[in-house]
Amino acid sequence: MNIAVFPGSFDPITKGHYDIIVRALPLFDQIIIAIGINSQKESFFPLEKRKRWIEFLFEGEDKIKVRTYEGLTVDFCNEVNAGYILRGLRTSADFEFERGIAQMNLSMNDEIETIFLISNPAYSHITSTIVREILRNGGDAGQFVPEGIELD
Ligand code: ADP
Repeated sequence: MNIAVFPGSFDPITKGHYDIIVRALPLFDQIIIAIGINSQKESFFPLEKRKRWIEFLFEGEDKIKVRTYEGLTVDFCNEVNAGYILRGLRTSADFEFERGIAQMNLSMNDEIETIFLISNPAYSHITSTIVREILRNGGDAGQFVPEGIELD
C-alpha cells in the first residue's frame, strides 16, 4: 500500500493545501494529513480546531486520515508505514527551503521519498502566514480557505 504523509502546521488549512491534497489523492492509497506539534512555536489556532477543519473537509473520503505528531517527520512516517512525504511548492523560495528538508530527510531515511506537487497558479499566492496576518488585523480571509471553514 502506498502511504503518503502530508506534514504541515495547517494553521489554518488554505485552498492551496486543499488543492495539493485533492490532486495527490489518485497517486496514493492513503494520505495521512499530519499536523506537526511544535512546542517551540505557539500556533494561532488551537490544534483541535485545525484537526477538526481538515476532518470536516475530507469527511467520507476513506483514503484520508488526519493525525497529529511530535518529533521528526521521518520517524512519524516509520510509525505509520508511509513511504512518501508529500509537499507543495509555490515559489523558488519554497523550493530552496524544501530541498534542504527533503535532502536531510533522505539522509536520515533513504526509504522515504519526498514527492512535490507544484502549486496551482490560482493558489500560489496563498500562505497560512498571510491569512493569520489578515485575521490579526481584523480582515476577512474567507476567500483563502476552503468552503465551509469558519475562521472566527
Ligand atoms: P509548514 O509549517 O511545514 O510550512 P504549512 O502548513 O505552511 O506547513 O504547509 C504545508 C505544505 O503545504 C508545505 O509543503 C507547503 O509548501 C504547502 N503549501 C502551503 N501553501 C500552499 C499553497 N498555497 N499552494 C501549494 N502548496 C502549499
